[in-house]
Amino acid sequence: MKYPIDVTVPPAIMRGVDKAWIVAGCMIPVPLETTQEDIHKWVRYVPPTPPENVWKVPSSTTGNYVVRRWPDGRWTCDCPGHKFHKRCKHVGVVKQSLTNDGSVSESR
Ligand SMILES: [Zn+2]
Repeated sequence: MKYPIDVTVPPAIMRGVDKAWIVAGCMIPVPLETTQEDIHKWVRYVPPTPPENVWKVPSSTTGNYVVRRWPDGRWTCDCPGHKFHKRCKHVGVVKQSLTNDGSVSESR
């Protein structure tokens, strides 16, 4: 195991009689003398970042696919094509509509 581990839950220390753990969605065994100041050596708290924008794109088969633009500039889509190829036409559709008139119907 390589430290620090990235966690998306604020870490806390839990102490037993002869052991200690850092609890942050998972339990990481740490030396008993570990203090609050040592937490960063073991885990790094990475708050989950919400997407900046979310769009629903009608799928050609059923329902909608959700396209997201993340604060770091990444685009994701929850269709199977995006999972496999890291790109798909749905992201293209949203990007296209953004460059056209700058307005897309945003899902709330
Ligand atoms: Zn897609």
